[in-house]
Formats: sequence, structure tokens, C-alpha cells
Amino acid sequence: MPDKTKLTTLSELGEFKLIEHLTKDFTLQKKSSLKGIGDDAAILDYGDQKLVLTTDLLMEGIHFNLVYTPLKHLGYQAVIVNLSDVYAMNASPAQITVSVAVSNKFSVESLEELYSGIKLACDQYGIDLVGGDTTSSVTGLVISITAVGSAQHDKLVYRDGARKNDLICVTGNLGAAYAGLQILERERKIFESDYKIQPELTNYAYILERQLKPEARKDIIQALSDEEVVPSSMIDLSDGLSSDLLHICKQSGVGCRIFMEKIPVAEETINAAEEFNIEPFICALNGGEDYELLFTVSPEELKKVAQIGGVSMIGHITDSDNGNKLITKEGNEISLQAQGWNSMSED
Ligand code: ADP
Ligand code: MG
Repeated sequence: MPDKTKLTTLSELGEFKLIEHLTKDFTLQKKSSLKGIGDDAAILDYGDQKLVLTTDLLMEGIHFNLVYTPLKHLGYQAVIVNLSDVYAMNASPAQITVSVAVSNKFSVESLEELYSGIKLACDQYGIDLVGGDTTSSVTGLVISITAVGSAQHDKLVYRDGARKNDLICVTGNLGAAYAGLQILERERKIFESDYKIQPELTNYAYILERQLKPEARKDIIQALSDEEVVPSSMIDLSDGLSSDLLHICKQSGVGCRIFMEKIPVAEETINAAEEFNIEPFICALNGGEDYELLFTVSPEELKKVAQIGGVSMIGHITDSDNGNKLITKEGNEISLQAQGWNSMSED
């Protein structure tokens, strides 16, 4: 008789619930483990400076497609996503380790390309590559990067510090990386149906760059420090504004009201979204991989934050009873839904 006990599929839980489920029985035993699972990075207490530690795993076919991601860009991105998590704690990254699993379809030259991107990111952000691991793979390329950084204890910013009436701020503009991905996917499908057709990418330089060569907001962390502003909470936008703002609200035990017309979306993103018949704000809310920073500050900090270029205030924090609301241009209230990237989803 086959075992009729039903096993739970990964997609029933989704990525975030899966992490919660697998790690719920682990309690922190070391005094030096200041912050464990649940934020952009872990915090370790080794004296005056606190260590910030984060790791990300990128899989070919899940996180990147080598048809349109040059290996140099991939190396650069893989470093950036980790540095972004360190900055999201209001800390400065200093070292990375890089581990790769490669199949024999890769040549030494192609891996040199990958490492030229890793080097460029190290040079650009002033960090050192200090180790890693190399092994073979049967399923394509896998890259895992761990980043270490540090901050003074009183400068660290977590996801759980947002308080009622705090202002909700985002850096740069949102949805551009998602719009860029839609263009790359469209051109890939055209190319695969007829390889003689060359991709038409010239009009999309800005959004393609946002997808293929993202940057981490080191400049904003520096500007906040210059203005002597310590946000009450912060997260980097890797999964989309909805999903990432909900992380802050859930962990802080608060609600939010954000205003659609205040969400910064670039002209190029609006134009591309229109080509695909998507509302531009959907790219901003649900598109991932922008690596902008989402943070909250107390209202007294308004003037100082306004001094920093490229920061938009999109709403404020409320009591949790008010829910998590997006106010449309017409004044309608919509409940925010977590619809970020979910590598466990079935589609
Ligand atoms: P981010 O998008 O900022 O990289 P994630 O959503 O990947 O954050 O992770 C959220 C939290 O869960 C982090 O603290 C991370 O270290 C932790 N985490 C993720 N996967 C695992 C795992 N397999 N085991 C233990 N902790 C994990
Ligand atoms: Mg993060």
C-alpha cells in the first residue's frame, strides 16, 4: 500500500513561511548573537563595533538567465545584493566570500568574466574578497556570496523599529528593474522563435541597466550619517515595495498608509509598463530587484531627510488596527498584498 500521508509542497508555504517553519526551533545560545534570523542581515556582538553578516544564493535558471545576463554583470549583481543587505542595517560592508558551483559547460575564460564583475563591485564599493569555495555542479551555475560589515551599536537599524506617525521614505525610483526584465524576457522569446531577429534594446538603456547592473545605496547610508539621521527601521527593496513594507509593518507591529502618486517611478519605467499594458505603479509595488532603501524616520527628522537628494516620502506609519493601506489617486483605499519575488512559487 502506498503511503497516503500527504506531504506538504514547498509552494503551499512559500519562501517566508518556509524559513519561519524550518528555523522556529532554533533559539540563540550565544551572547554574541545579537540578531539572528529575520532581518536583512545578522548582527554579531564582538566588542564596540558590531559585525553584520549576510549571505545570498543565486541559481542559474531561478535567479538569472545566462541568455541575457552577461557573466560580468552577474558577478557584479551577486556582490551588490549582499552589500545592499549590509547597508539596509545602516552598516558598512568590508569583506565578502564567494562560493561557486560550475558545470563543465563553463570555460576558464567565462569564469574570468564572472570574476571581473566581482572585482569591479569590490573596487567600486571598496571591499575585499577574502575567501570562498569552488565545486562542480550538474545543474548549471550557482553563486553564493557572504558579506561581512560593521557598525556602531547605536547606528544599527532593524526592520522592527517603525513607530506610529513615522514617515515612510524610499530612495531613487522603483519598478525600473522589473520593467527592464520584461523587455529582456520579450526579446529573449522573439530571439528564440527566430534567431535571425536581433534584439531591439536601444530605447531601454536606463531600465536595462537597472536590471543588469543594479547598485547598492552606499551613498544614502553616507548621507544619512552626514545628516545625523538614524532611521527607525530600514529594509532594502529586493522583493518589491508591497512585500518589503509589509515586512517592516509586521515586525514593528504597526500599519501604514502610502500614497500611490508619491511612489517614485521613472519616465522610462512608465513608458515600458505602458507597452506591456501594466500599470506603472504595479511594477513599483510588486517588481523586485530595485535594491533601493525603504526606511522610516520620526517626523522630527523631516527637514534633515529632505536635505538628502533622491529620497521620496510616500506615506506614514499608523496603528496596526488601520491595516496596511495604499491610497489611489482617486482616494480609494487598497490593502497592500505581499506579491514580491517568491522563488518557491509554482509559476
Ligand atoms: P533578504 O531578502 O533581505 O536577503 P531573506 O528573505 O532572504 O532576506 O531572509 C530573511 C531572513 O531569513 C534572513 O535573516 C535570513 O538570514 C534568514 N534565512 C533565509 N533562509 C534561511 C535558511 N535556509 N536557514 C536559516 N535562515 C534563513
Ligand atoms: Mg534584504
